[in-house]
Amino acid sequence: MALYVYKFGGTSVGSIERIKAVAKKVKKAHDLGDQIVVVVSAMSGETNRLIALAKALQQQPNGREMDVLLSTGEQVTVSLLSMALHEIGCDAHSYTGSQVKILTDSAHTKARILNIDELPIRSHLNKGKVVVVAGFQGVDEQNNITTLGRGGSDTTAVALAAALKADECHIYTDVDGVYTTDPRVEPKARRLDKITFEEMLEMASLGSKVLQIRSVEFAGKYNVALRVLSSFKEGKGTLITYEESPMESALISGIAFNRDEAKLTISGVPDLPGVAFKILGPVADANIEIDMIIQNIADDATTDFTFTVHRNDYQRAKAALDKTCAELGAKKVTADDGIVKISIVGVGMRSHAGIASTMFKALADEGINIKMISTSEIKISIVIDEKYLELAVRALHSAFKLDQEAVS
Ligand code: ASP
Ligand code: MG
Repeated sequence: MALYVYKFGGTSVGSIERIKAVAKKVKKAHDLGDQIVVVVSAMSGETNRLIALAKALQQQPNGREMDVLLSTGEQVTVSLLSMALHEIGCDAHSYTGSQVKILTDSAHTKARILNIDELPIRSHLNKGKVVVVAGFQGVDEQNNITTLGRGGSDTTAVALAAALKADECHIYTDVDGVYTTDPRVEPKARRLDKITFEEMLEMASLGSKVLQIRSVEFAGKYNVALRVLSSFKEGKGTLITYEESPMESALISGIAFNRDEAKLTISGVPDLPGVAFKILGPVADANIEIDMIIQNIADDATTDFTFTVHRNDYQRAKAALDKTCAELGAKKVTADDGIVKISIVGVGMRSHAGIASTMFKALADEGINIKMISTSEIKISIVIDEKYLELAVRALHSAFKLDQEAVS
């Protein structure tokens, strides 16, 4: 007997018909004798609808109240799915996050899971029931409802799989796996049978929206075998797992891109110790995450400093930077929100040279200007004008032969 955690996203539970289809799938697995915990998201569009309601009242709603509101979306689907299961003769028991209890910190709308009490779930499983848990939510020490950030149901599923030592965690979604890149941009994109946690983490943090980043971090840390599959068609999906032999890996596993970034530059900054901290300190204090950072070598005792932030934080970051510019007596702030970041990702990079030059040549051949470059052990990222996104992704996809099956 195996224990599986199945997670179904918003599209998979987006209507009564779809909820019935999920119930059938769950019952089928349960009838084979396996123990099944199901995590569901809110019906598609529901979380956005709730956010819009809140925003119609207040621009910056109180985090605690926001979480009370947002958690209702998943409360609807756990009850409906349980009813659908009962209807077809499968005993099921629903839980909200706080009922489980999924203990989190108190960072409303982006809480982190601290602990899960898996005993009540286990006792229901041992009684032969399917357990249906609301994704995306928990409860803090003071009994406040919390939510885990957009896409947080993935993290709920992986965390439950870790706590219950599940055999596999299946993320059922509207795509049938992880692709070499977004098929809407490059129709020749291929589904990967396997990808490593590390690569998936890079792909996810770069905007490949298949999984919430935190869920992949969690899966890597607790070694949860994670599989992404389609709710609608049969197939093996993509297994996210540990790296086996880097020598046998393809050079590049995928190309990710992120349209959600904006670039800010402060130029003519006095080149003194502590300047980077003075620039980024106020940005961090405003709770703005920074992604790429570049500082140029100073020539005339001043330097230029460029970084990227999420586009949602662009105005706030610019305001903080304008203030710093005046305080430091720097020359000026320039900002650009018409950029995109593209990254090539692959553990194969570790054991192969020349990846960067292949990348830059492919872009040069298309006449695409690179504005920023950054590298890590398994990734090379560039920032370019947003208007060249499609062209660049396709050029890179073919330069690294991602449309062809990897030969090992
Ligand atoms: N319903 C939440 C959202 O839309 C959580 C999730 O779907 O994973 O972000
Ligand atoms: Mg989702």
